[in-house]
Amino acid sequence: MAHRKKIIAGNWKMNKTATEAKPIVQDILLELKDYDNCDIVLCPPFTALTAVSEALSSVQNIRLGAQNVHQAASGAYTGEISAAMLRDLYVRYVIIGHSERRQYCGETNEIIRQKTKTAIGGSLKPIVCIGETLTEREEDRWKAVLTTQLEEGLAGFTEEDLAEIVLAYEPVWAIGTGKTATPAQAQETHAYIRTELARLFGQSTADHMRIQYGGSVKADNAKELLNQPDIDGALVGGASLEARSFVGIIKNACGA
Ligand code: PEP
Repeated sequence: MAHRKKIIAGNWKMNKTATEAKPIVQDILLELKDYDNCDIVLCPPFTALTAVSEALSSVQNIRLGAQNVHQAASGAYTGEISAAMLRDLYVRYVIIGHSERRQYCGETNEIIRQKTKTAIGGSLKPIVCIGETLTEREEDRWKAVLTTQLEEGLAGFTEEDLAEIVLAYEPVWAIGTGKTATPAQAQETHAYIRTELARLFGQSTADHMRIQYGGSVKADNAKELLNQPDIDGALVGGASLEARSFVGIIKNACGA
């Protein structure tokens, strides 16, 4: 059985200026400067990347992530950001295909596949998001939806590519709603995703890939969720905006 180190990432979404970001990172560092029980990633908005990068420059255990990257290497794409621009700011991870980008920015599985390819080529580790809507869950179509997202979003990737990817299973109905999948429900879904990864890419790749859970993760539900055998971490939105709640999630789930 492969050992998968847990990975907890904070997705700040479109919150916090560079000025507001600094004290949050300082407070996180006070608690987690030498913490090594899990991998930790902070994903501020683009405009706060430099400030957070500078604040994290003295530590190795907390990595910087971005929330999006363009699929092209460079060129006439007004308003977009490339993998090389992110690497230049010491960004290591990038969230790709978040449900908000699928919903509001028209990102398809094919665009997500291209962005993931570009990120890996640019030495960024993609956190690739998948998840079903409430209707898809209620109509019991979640398995088909997740299979399509995996088949199309990860089409053509090699074993080496897949070793760079973290998956984030985020049921859309649980994001920012306060509704969390029960630990049993989340485990069932993560186990299904891993079975599909094994079918598509082989058992060894499936055993090594980390699958985060995301959707209203809080300090008081993190431990039970992350104790499930196929849940390898969390992608945290709202509760990552305050140092105390983000640190609480990490320590409750991975040990003080
Ligand atoms: C997210 O944005 O990825 C997320 C899971 O948000 P929240 O934790 O607020 O539900």
